[in-house]
Amino acid sequence: MTAEILDGKAAALRLQQTVGAGVARRTGAGGRPPELAVVLVGENPASQVYVRKKRSQCEEVGIVSHAHDLPADIEQETLLALVDELNAAANIDGILVQLPLPPHMDAQQVIDRIDPAKDVDGFHPVNMGRLALKLPGPRSCTPRGVMTLLEDAGIVLAGKDAVIIGQSNIVGRPMAMELLNARCTVTICHSRTRDLEAKVRGADVLVAAVGRPGFVQGDWIKEGAVVVDVGINRLESGKLAGDVDFDGARQRAGWITPVPGGVGPMTVATLLANTLDAADARDPVY
Ligand code: NAP
Repeated sequence: MTAEILDGKAAALRLQQTVGAGVARRTGAGGRPPELAVVLVGENPASQVYVRKKRSQCEEVGIVSHAHDLPADIEQETLLALVDELNAAANIDGILVQLPLPPHMDAQQVIDRIDPAKDVDGFHPVNMGRLALKLPGPRSCTPRGVMTLLEDAGIVLAGKDAVIIGQSNIVGRPMAMELLNARCTVTICHSRTRDLEAKVRGADVLVAAVGRPGFVQGDWIKEGAVVVDVGINRLESGKLAGDVDFDGARQRAGWITPVPGGVGPMTVATLLANTLDAADARDPVY
């Protein structure tokens, strides 16, 4: 079997177009465009790349983005004061603080300070709780993006055995909730999991979010499985690689995401969707 490719680039483009149409509907009905504040602290090169992508894609779909680039040695209190200001700003629908923050800062305190209605990253405890309770609200971009990608491909999830490798707050945990909400039977694995290989072998749906290139071996994959590779790892050669041995896994899987061109583009497009949703919820025009 050779797996079909879950083309995140193409699906992200479709999602972007949908968001662009939503923005145009708002402005066409006399409303204002959604506005997103993008906060970048320091000069982490990967963060700079992500932020640049997010800002340029906002522009493409008609979302107004406001850049707040702050020096790496900024005080925690100064960043919290900016968040307070953005929370109070009537025109700002979404606030994104690019992670990771410099080591002297407390990222969770910053996330906790964001108005949950403006939390377009879906990281606020209130929004994580809403996801866990299957209530509407902003959903974390990467897991929501994965769900959109699977829906877009017409993959039926109900009843499937799903295995997630990784239990981080930004990927593994919300991903588990998303798949549970889709009525999968979910197993969450991490560095203390015993016999990981056996768990992966039983997975109808595998989501790898480990951060180690080629960590999941191709022959672990169940025949016909859906393989979602969230990992983004920069190799010494400068190339990007996922957490899954793509060539090996592709021989056994039914569907597989490439890296790059899989989950990554969906994450950015989902941020746009979350920003439009936040604007529609805060300031409906139709
Ligand atoms: P993270 O916070 O470092 O979490 C990694 C997880 O992997 C942890 O839960 C850890 O377990 C688990 N792990 C580590 N070694 C393991 C092992 N030997 N066996 C089983 N589990 C193991 O990473 P993250 O932020 O979730 O990101 C994961 C990857 O996704 C990274 O490559 C990141 O760059 C990528 N990412 C991509 C996107 C995207 O848009 N595509 C978005 C976010 C992240 P413990 O908890 O037990 O330590």
